[in-house]
Amino acid sequence: MNETESTTSPKTKASPWWERIPLTLQILIALVAAVSVGIALGAGNPNPSNATLINNLAIPAELVLKALRALATPLILVAVLHTLMTTNIPGTAGRRLAVLLLTNTTVAILVGLLVANVLRPGTWGNVATSTTTEVTTQNLDPWGIVKDAVPEAILKPLVDNNVIQLIVIALSFGIVLRGLKSEQVAQGKKGYQPIEDVIGILFEAVARVLNWVIALVPFAVFGIVAKTVAMQGFAPFKSLGAFIVSVLLALALQACYYLTRVKFGSWVHPLKFLAGGSDAFLTAFSTSSSAAAMPVTFEVLQTKIGLRESSAALGALVGANFNNDGTALYEAMSALYISQLIGQHLDLGQQLIVILTSIFASVGAANIPNAGLVTMTLVFTSVGLPTQYIALLVTIDWFLDRCRTAINVMGDMTVSALLDGKKPRSVDEA
Ligand code: ASP
Repeated sequence: MNETESTTSPKTKASPWWERIPLTLQILIALVAAVSVGIALGAGNPNPSNATLINNLAIPAELVLKALRALATPLILVAVLHTLMTTNIPGTAGRRLAVLLLTNTTVAILVGLLVANVLRPGTWGNVATSTTTEVTTQNLDPWGIVKDAVPEAILKPLVDNNVIQLIVIALSFGIVLRGLKSEQVAQGKKGYQPIEDVIGILFEAVARVLNWVIALVPFAVFGIVAKTVAMQGFAPFKSLGAFIVSVLLALALQACYYLTRVKFGSWVHPLKFLAGGSDAFLTAFSTSSSAAAMPVTFEVLQTKIGLRESSAALGALVGANFNNDGTALYEAMSALYISQLIGQHLDLGQQLIVILTSIFASVGAANIPNAGLVTMTLVFTSVGLPTQYIALLVTIDWFLDRCRTAINVMGDMTVSALLDGKKPRSVDEA
């Protein structure tokens, strides 16, 4: 969200010193402090007299998660409406773009689920669960999913945090508003403008509130890690380490999939794609924001890789708003990981729901830092996984967010290369 800050909030006064410490460093400091406190409080053998204190350490993480859950639905709603109202998508290329985006995202989720099912990172460490988890044994019910997708009232999905219904509402209104806008533009009218402005402002407002919540993440990390170490020692981190390795492996496989598609579906050589795109990947990695990387992505696609401007624009500027393959992969893997960790088996039907909600959640995950963490709450809710376990993932999100953002950007660039086709730009086109 740094990019929203830098583009929209002119700094009128110097920020306090703690705000100038990068968030990653704050989280690392919190981690070190938490481990020390956790060891001092017993490292797996806590003194019963400290029980209340140890339990209270989880309060910041609970509050942060509650706030993230509350922000998830408005974030998705305004992000989708904003994208649909403001982006310019030409007809045929638009349909091709939609197909490419959907295929890539589905592949990403399948890769994530495959790696999580094979490596089973959640079973690598023993985590004593503090909550009773009800085991839901829903069977695959496609008709039920369709029936569930239609909300009973317009605002109900916002209240229930139901991602599929929310996306149905957001897409319906987004498409209609988009149609109304183009009718008005054709007639030279400007009635749509106030609505577009309001949606833009609301989007920024949600992003800024999200910024506040993210600023509290170091406290949440401190509390949850200190509590975990105090109560259970270091065993849970073994499985968290396994999870990090699994996610990195899945992201690497997804990158290989992109390179293969680029090789066989476009004129671009995969090595040129990697070398030319390095600035964009690095910007994505260092800012954790594909929106912040967007101008760089657009630029390198044309100047370093040599794509046509129209293909670069469709993938990097339009696709980027909908396309978050790394995020989708991560959300699905997280759901499976937590289900393994707490022994709440997700059957095939539930994994299908995870696929569907992860697609929607990734579409709604605005291209800003930690947005995936916010929408993940909706994926968990859809299959009855307890969202408090996301607190565990908060501790590593600062790192995995960077990695998945780089893959999000690589996905956008792949789409651009595929749209550019098998023939390089000719000299007259340049
Ligand atoms: N940070 C990611 C992006 O900007 C979104 C996410 O949190 O997954 O693409």
